[in-house]
Amino acid sequence: MTAVEANKFQRRQTSRIESTERRAGDIIGWSKENSPLVLTWLGDSSAAVRVFVIAGQHGDEVQGRQAAARLIASYGQGVRGVQAAVLTNANPDGALRNTRMNTDGIDLNRDHQSLRSVEMQFIHRFVRQWRPHVIVDVHNYPSRRRHLVERGLVAHHDVLVDVPTHPAIKLALSEEQRDEFLTTIREELKSEGYESERYVLVSPAGRVRHSTTDVVDARNGLALRYGALTVLLEGRAPIRKEGAVAAERTIVAQHLALNSILKLAGQFGETLIGNSGSIGRESEIVPVRCCYRLAENALALKFRDVKTSDVREVVFPEFRGRLKVTRQIALPAAYAVPLANRELIELLKLHGFAHHIANSQEAVRIERYFIESVTAAPCDGQTPKRISLKTNQSLAPLDGYAIFPITQTGGRALAVFLEPKSNYGLHRYGELNLPLLADSFYPILRVLAG
Ligand SMILES: [Zn+2]
Repeated sequence: MTAVEANKFQRRQTSRIESTERRAGDIIGWSKENSPLVLTWLGDSSAAVRVFVIAGQHGDEVQGRQAAARLIASYGQGVRGVQAAVLTNANPDGALRNTRMNTDGIDLNRDHQSLRSVEMQFIHRFVRQWRPHVIVDVHNYPSRRRHLVERGLVAHHDVLVDVPTHPAIKLALSEEQRDEFLTTIREELKSEGYESERYVLVSPAGRVRHSTTDVVDARNGLALRYGALTVLLEGRAPIRKEGAVAAERTIVAQHLALNSILKLAGQFGETLIGNSGSIGRESEIVPVRCCYRLAENALALKFRDVKTSDVREVVFPEFRGRLKVTRQIALPAAYAVPLANRELIELLKLHGFAHHIANSQEAVRIERYFIESVTAAPCDGQTPKRISLKTNQSLAPLDGYAIFPITQTGGRALAVFLEPKSNYGLHRYGELNLPLLADSFYPILRVLAG
């Protein structure tokens, strides 16, 4: 969608909002079983900063949905210059059955790249049309993990927060500003008596790292595709025997965090609005593979002791808190996808990437990969560990190809999706028919300018 179209959409939304007494009830799509995905508009519809709150991707996470509903009921203390759209229930079918997945067994928060679910197709379409500057993804995390309970520990933090981690994502806020963003949320929670931490995962072996770098979740997926600042907001899911008081504590903490994010969105408004939306430039370097490395310092985390219920600090020496890029590529002018690969083109269309069909016989400079050898991925959804490529440049006509220029919103995402050496490539999905086969040409071409 062009800027002009986006403005038109914006005006249409605005007039629709003004013409209704109450701002509730825009339907942006339907679940597999035809439950509406209902959006509620909050704040001044002429405000410059747009924030999209999405709760309930996982149908069994109750408190997050309730916190989003509470934001609708009491919105806006200290919030300036922000309008919000709140989707309290992104997975109504899962919520009805109290299951994490949707009706088809799809984990919606692992579906932001492959868009297999109708729910995600509708939600992405809304994001593309409304173009929020900030997207808050609301979840609940389990307070008891078996391997931690075995060490006598249960989760103590009321809220965990995080921002995008994939290194190809370019955001309006600098790393320092993102840290400030997270720190301010956490300080505000603390001043009200709630504990929080940046989102970390503790493995059974005691290794700790931040959230995944994969682009299948809302946090990385939507930030990479649309350049929005995404914020993951995980509230502690109490266990049943903790009762209503503990559940209420989580809801209040998540509501507080939501309000704090909205306030910050207003404060960072000018910077957020200035974002170019991850538009690519030819020759620009895009990371397509990375890993977490050991940080210099150990990480201390607070836990509640299973037996005594006291809160104590546990030090994890193996804190993988440092992200290291291990492979990067230079962007071509465009990627050319054979029209014969219909499944792949359909998916890129679902993602809303602009493209055109080459219709001239004129030869252009292209680069083609030859796959010399490849260690097959262990299973669908995974990337081969090793792949050896040779490239050769030539002049060739592009009839029979769909051309996806990288000078568009999310242009950098095209490299992450389409490069054969990407650890996050669409070749991971068997149904897209993009296998990496030894002794063959990779079907997607890099189109070089001039
Ligand atoms: Zn979740």
